[in-house]
Amino acid sequence: MKLTLVFEDNASMHGEEGVKAYPERMGAYVAELYKKNGYEVTLIINDEHSDGSQITDEIIAQTDVMIWWGHWYHDNIRDEIANKIRLAVNGGMGFVALHSAHHSKPFKALMGTTCNLSWREIGERERLWVIDHAHPIAQGVPESVVIPHEEMYGEPFEIPTPDELVMAGWFQGGEIMRSCAVWKRVNGKVVFFQPGHETNPTYRIPAIQKILLNVAEYAKPLKKIGKRVNHKPQPPEGDIKITDWE
Ligand code: ZN
Repeated sequence: MKLTLVFEDNASMHGEEGVKAYPERMGAYVAELYKKNGYEVTLIINDEHSDGSQITDEIIAQTDVMIWWGHWYHDNIRDEIANKIRLAVNGGMGFVALHSAHHSKPFKALMGTTCNLSWREIGERERLWVIDHAHPIAQGVPESVVIPHEEMYGEPFEIPTPDELVMAGWFQGGEIMRSCAVWKRVNGKVVFFQPGHETNPTYRIPAIQKILLNVAEYAKPLKKIGKRVNHKPQPPEGDIKITDWE
């Protein structure tokens, strides 16, 4: 299965806490996690100069699941690229929005809402609860996972009601969050997964890694439909007599 990881490289990741969390950089770390589990990975790094042009039509066409982490440079991505990703998801490609990718252009295009949420960045404890134990994303994941330090993302989260709500997060400050949610968009699946602030080593937690692997597997297309040929209706079979209804 072919994954395309689009990860940001921002100044916060170069600061003391960011380097401590991921000395190899978060994108490289997550790419390696997928690679060592047998996935074919293309890693695209967005920095302040990136406008999304690295995400070519060819890459989009080859991608089974696109996994996106961004924060500072959402607005730099061209609308045209976000729209191409949206259409690819309609055709079957999976899209996973991690953490601050809730405000990424492709995710917002797929949701059609502001995707605003409440947040507080003091590195508090989060307890992630599995709600849907039978869901494929929850397989092999403990009933709850404690993340010692995470940025609080809480409700109200302005998203369409998810088709499937897999996990909910609780924070030390009392807030709750729909932390792992799934939507179907025509033929493709969209997953949002909340943990993963860049200065907290959340993606190093084994249970979180299991979830990252599960979301990629779950979002993969069973069949890529691609562009549909417009259906041309044929005449109905036999006669239709309106008088039959009287
Ligand atoms: Zn964050």
